[in-house]
Amino acid sequence: MTRTFRKLLALTGLTLLSSPLFAQRTLIHCGQLLDGVRSDLQREVTVVVEGNRITAIRKGYSPPASGETVVDLKSKTVLPGLIDMHVHLETETRRGGAYDRFTMNVPDVAFLSAKYARTTLLAGFTTVRDLGGSGVNISLRNAVNRGLVEGPRIITCGKSIATTGGHADPTNGYRKDLMGDPGPDEGVINSPEDARKAVRQRYKDGSDLIKITATGGVLSNAKDGSGPQFTEEEVRAVVEAAKDYGFAVAAHAHGAEGMKRAIRAGVTTIEHGTFMDDEAIALFKKHGTYFVPTIIAGKTVADSARIMGYYPPLVTPKALAIGPKIQDTFAKAYKAGVKIAFGTDAGVYLHGYNAKEFEYMVEAGMPPLEAIRAATVVNAELLGLRDQLGSIETGKLADLIAVDQNPLQNIKTLQTVRFVMKDGKVYKN
Ligand SMILES: [Zn+2]
Repeated sequence: MTRTFRKLLALTGLTLLSSPLFAQRTLIHCGQLLDGVRSDLQREVTVVVEGNRITAIRKGYSPPASGETVVDLKSKTVLPGLIDMHVHLETETRRGGAYDRFTMNVPDVAFLSAKYARTTLLAGFTTVRDLGGSGVNISLRNAVNRGLVEGPRIITCGKSIATTGGHADPTNGYRKDLMGDPGPDEGVINSPEDARKAVRQRYKDGSDLIKITATGGVLSNAKDGSGPQFTEEEVRAVVEAAKDYGFAVAAHAHGAEGMKRAIRAGVTTIEHGTFMDDEAIALFKKHGTYFVPTIIAGKTVADSARIMGYYPPLVTPKALAIGPKIQDTFAKAYKAGVKIAFGTDAGVYLHGYNAKEFEYMVEAGMPPLEAIRAATVVNAELLGLRDQLGSIETGKLADLIAVDQNPLQNIKTLQTVRFVMKDGKVYKN
């Protein structure tokens, strides 16, 4: 290409990658299309993809011009790529898995995380928010972005922030000489000053958002699963520091007191929300905080806890007490008008089963269309990516999936995804 021609392209606002002159054009023939914006299905539609963008949506099946490729999804229902607001791509539950951290090296974690990322993408989840790991999740995001590993678009918190002995204190349950005294660098804080340092360290590490563990949790090797673990001042310091870097703050919370402190301090989402009471519900609505239910994780930990030796002894009673309650909490919160964002806590159950959450949401009283919207437009909005993701519209990134049946009639069809395109590239057909 001559320099003059390149200059001409630059002047007309075209770049080599996005130029229709150079991008591969794909015509996707959709039997039915649920675009994420309209509430009804459209029949016989062609979605035109050039490079990584949707460039047109046409009625009927457009025949291909020369050089254009056709993807035949005439017998399928096409939807926007799904978004899960709560996954852990570094780990996956298994009997005795609590001891993996003493036996696995960082590269072992990295290879496994690449496998889990691919499984997640092929299940139709084209974007995920990773809410806690060792930092391998940051390298994984970079590897996916560079095309080295197949996986969803990842927005990651890196390492979660906890207080000493709290749910994400990395040395919980260790014997004393191994325990040490982890600080803000490792995401353990005990004052507003520590909180600010921990947030700034996450920024330096390359995190995309902040996750705190506002109350005890189920799977940490510690006794308490729901009491508050941050002062309100500490959460406020996290939120204020996070704002400087444009970070959202996700707060894990089971108990009501820790949840209320987190909401009042201005966090973006509450994860799990198990023991949400009426006062907490009122606070959610007053502050516009989103609730990320993770029903499937609750059900899975309760089931696993009934298997002898699956979890350490301190974890089993917490799993049995907390796990089964989340679906009822979700039903109550939804009915009360709390804003719901789709999220599952993948890794606490086996990766790739994320879409089972839709079934549980519908079972608890949410209409299928709303459950799908929670995993598409709502989550895209919450991520600040509504102009790029969450719907099939001209100008959006080409993230599309296809299933056999109409999910508005059979929500379980989302558990068997037949076609996955992310960023204009087909990963499954
Ligand atoms: Zn989690």
